[in-house]
Amino acid sequence: MHYAIHELDQYRSRTMNLFRRLACRCHLLHCQKCRAQLRQLEQDDLFLAELRQSEQRMDVPENPSEYRKLCGIFEEERHKRESSI
Ligand SMILES: [Zn+2]
Repeated sequence: MHYAIHELDQYRSRTMNLFRRLACRCHLLHCQKCRAQLRQLEQDDLFLAELRQSEQRMDVPENPSEYRKLCGIFEEERHKRESSI
């Protein structure tokens, strides 16, 4: 019998109770299949963390359409001022 993804996720996030965690750990020691799945879960975590980091680096306003509208208003104001001179 193998562990399901959600069980491995519980093991990884330590939400599994101690007894089950120890049993899971014993299983992982000799089961390559479950170890590979656990590794996959950890890679997903890394991927999500990277995604979050790159979002922060991009410095994009939360609402791009609002941002564009704001730019449009500034442009209009500038044109009005230029034409009145
Ligand atoms: Zn297994």
